[in-house]
Amino acid sequence: MSYYITTFCHGSKYEPIKNKWLERIHKKCKNYNVKIYENINTPVHFTYAWWDVVRLTNNLSLLLETQKPIIQLDIDAIIEKDIKCLVDLNYDFIISTEIGGDKAFPPECSKKLGFGVCSGFYIIKPSAYTFLCKILSFMNMRINNSYSDQVNIMTYIVNNNYEIKTEDIVFDNITYTNKIIHIDGITICVLDFDIVTRDPIVNKGQFINHINIDNVGGVDKFLLYFDEPLESLPLTCRCGKIHLGDTNVCKHMELRNR
Ligand SMILES: [Zn+2]
Repeated sequence: MSYYITTFCHGSKYEPIKNKWLERIHKKCKNYNVKIYENINTPVHFTYAWWDVVRLTNNLSLLLETQKPIIQLDIDAIIEKDIKCLVDLNYDFIISTEIGGDKAFPPECSKKLGFGVCSGFYIIKPSAYTFLCKILSFMNMRINNSYSDQVNIMTYIVNNNYEIKTEDIVFDNITYTNKIIHIDGITICVLDFDIVTRDPIVNKGQFINHINIDNVGGVDKFLLYFDEPLESLPLTCRCGKIHLGDTNVCKHMELRNR
C-alpha cells in the first residue's frame, strides 16, 4: 500500500454515493488504502466548514501513524484516471484549484495570489506535517473567523513570506501549468485547473471531475455522472439556477461543440 485516500461523509444525504465512490477508486487506482470519516462526534461547533477541521485532524493523525501520503478526496469528486502520478509529484503539499480565478473564495486572498485553492482534493506528504499542524491550529481557533481549510491556508500564505512560480508538467501528452509556492521551508503545488476540474466539466483528459451536487440537481442526478457519458448529461455549472442564487445566462454550452 503506497498511500491513503480519505473522505468525510456525514449524514444520510451522501450515503448513496459512498459505494459508487469506492467502486470508482477501486477501478482506477492501485496500491491504495481507503478511510472514510463518518458518524463523527466533533469537538468543534457545527458552524460552516467544521468538517474541514474533522478531516484534517484525522488526516494528520493518519499521516503521523503511517508516514504515507494522505489524500483528501471529496465524496462529490469522481476519479477519471489513476492518480498515482499526482501522488508521486515531488512536493510537500499538493492541492487543487478553486473555481473563479482571482475572484475565488476568499476573494481578498485570491485577488493577491491570482487564484484560489480547493480542498476538495489535496495530498499531504509527511514533510508537510508541521505546516499543516500550524494551519489546523488556526482553523481550530477560527483565527480568520472560519474553520475553513481554504480560508486559513490562503490567508496564511498571503500574510507570510512566500515565493510563487509556475511549472509545466506533461501527463498523457497534455501540458499542464501548476503553481508552485515556497513557504515555511516547504513547497506547495497548486494543480492546474484541468487536472482536477470543476464547473463546467468537459472531457479534457482530466484526472478528477469535482462536481457540485446541488448544481446538477441533487444526489440521484449526481450519481449519473459515474455511469453515463459526460456529453449526455447536463452541464455541471451553476448558471441560471435561480434557486441556488445564480441568475447568469449560461455561456458554457459552446464548450460542448468544440
Ligand atoms: Zn454555464
